[in-house]
Amino acid sequence: MRLSHYRIDNERCRRCSRCLQVCPHNAIHISAEQSLPFIDQHRCQRCGMCFRACPASAVRRPYCLTTLREISTTGHGE
Ligand code: SF4
Ligand code: SF4
Repeated sequence: MRLSHYRIDNERCRRCSRCLQVCPHNAIHISAEQSLPFIDQHRCQRCGMCFRACPASAVRRPYCLTTLREISTTGHGE
């Protein structure tokens, strides 16, 4: 199954940095230009912790690229 990536919706983000704090793989960083968080797709292990921690529903889950359906949030590989 091919999946897209976790990503952050800049419009919803409140810049609280909670996602940076919970990411166990140090995959979320703040962009110097916009002061907004972004996810380093090379480091992200798709654990979903940023999705669950975000108070603004700004973290978007990956989609299955085959069915274009959003995957569930429980655990790696989902
Ligand atoms: S936890 Fe959500 S609102 Fe807070 S910085 Fe991360 S994406 Fe933005
Ligand atoms: S899904 Fe997990 S590894 Fe990927 S950015 Fe979010 S917290 Fe970090």
